[in-house]
Amino acid sequence: VNHYLERIESNAHLNAFVEVYSEEALRLASEIDIKIRNGTAGRLAGLIIGLKDVLSHKGHGVQAGSRILDSYIAPYTGTAVQRLLDEDAIVIGRQNCDEFAMGSSNESSSFGPVLNAADNSKVPGGSSGGSAVAVQAGLCHASLGSDTGGSVRQPAAFCGVIGVKPSYGRVSRYGLIAYASSFDCIGPITKSIEDAALLLEVMAGGDDFDSTVSLKEVPAYSKNLDWNGKAKIGYIRDTIENESIAPEIREQTLEVLNRLRASGHEVTPVEMPLLDYLLPTYYILTTAEASSNLSRFDGVRYGHRSAVKGDLEALYKNTRTEGFGEEVRRRILLGTFVLSANYYDAYYTKAQRVRRLVREETERFFGQFDFLISPVTPTTAFTIGEKTEDPLQMYLADIFTVQANVVGNPAVSIPNGVDKEGMPIGIQIMAPFFEEQKMLSFANHLS
Ligand code: GLN
Repeated sequence: VNHYLERIESNAHLNAFVEVYSEEALRLASEIDIKIRNGTAGRLAGLIIGLKDVLSHKGHGVQAGSRILDSYIAPYTGTAVQRLLDEDAIVIGRQNCDEFAMGSSNESSSFGPVLNAADNSKVPGGSSGGSAVAVQAGLCHASLGSDTGGSVRQPAAFCGVIGVKPSYGRVSRYGLIAYASSFDCIGPITKSIEDAALLLEVMAGGDDFDSTVSLKEVPAYSKNLDWNGKAKIGYIRDTIENESIAPEIREQTLEVLNRLRASGHEVTPVEMPLLDYLLPTYYILTTAEASSNLSRFDGVRYGHRSAVKGDLEALYKNTRTEGFGEEVRRRILLGTFVLSANYYDAYYTKAQRVRRLVREETERFFGQFDFLISPVTPTTAFTIGEKTEDPLQMYLADIFTVQANVVGNPAVSIPNGVDKEGMPIGIQIMAPFFEEQKMLSFANHLS
């Protein structure tokens, strides 16, 4: 704990943590030390973790990087976090993120941007930017992030670490501040597949507080990470052989595929006619869900309340205007629009239908293949400020990650070298529903 506290302090400029629990972490460390001596310590004794600022941890602040939850203290601990604590993991602090997990660069946080440790002028990715940088820079062993459209995998790729999005329904969302409930997944960010597998096996499984969690048995992922045999791998031609993808990402992804082919795996390009509809579907449905989820922040029940005097309507309006940042406001407006009476069928219903089609197409794909491999991002980490004026450019950066959330399948991002400037490149492996074991073993084989 002392080591990490020092690391956090000497890397404060990265802005990865918004709060550090020094005293508590040291106290827990000495308590766990006694347990270790007595042989009663849990499976995660000695593991120092950080939590993205969207995960409730009783008695600690949690504010989704937003002013609107200023001074809000979590009244309970979410299931995933509780399960880690029960196994004696030590939470060293909470980590910076895009406001309400909306973003791909960690620039929309009310705590200011996080810097990529590989090059401080670059973004770390988002929305779990602080969580990825904390692992990248060695400020903790592992982080928990949330992934609604890529927020664990994309920052992991930009920072050269591992990020896992489990199947929807594998890990309880209880205690996670909701962005888009039918997409949100909690996932680990780590330096090794084994750590990610261990965290996942501790967090996963049925929970009385979240009825969307599967009761399927949780395998001991971390104990079965050997990969044997040959895989059938598919890749969507256009996700690699496309002009808009950075040449080094294209080359390094193809190199992996060629290597796999040479070692006897079957590697086949496929077409995915619905590829162009992924981002519109994702952004219509997530903004709709977000506009509904975020309506609870009204100045009455949580956090910030406007001091401007007026009637109830004015209280809501002033609180939300003062509390929400620009990106969150944009999404609430978009979501409210697509849900409005006159446009509901044209946008929301249509997007739900497309979601179903994408799901069917993905199921057909996994009827034929074991894994879908793609880059994680079309470019490496971009310069801070480069895309802030153009939200559409920012949304386009999520092209490869949103499919896993639209359909609910698990996906992992692992490091795949660096570009000429030394910025990390990631590669993504998507697997069939609830095949985390297979996916992690194969990722282990690849990494
Ligand atoms: N960048 C995507 C978005 O802004 C993904 C965010 C996430 O996964 N939380 O919606």
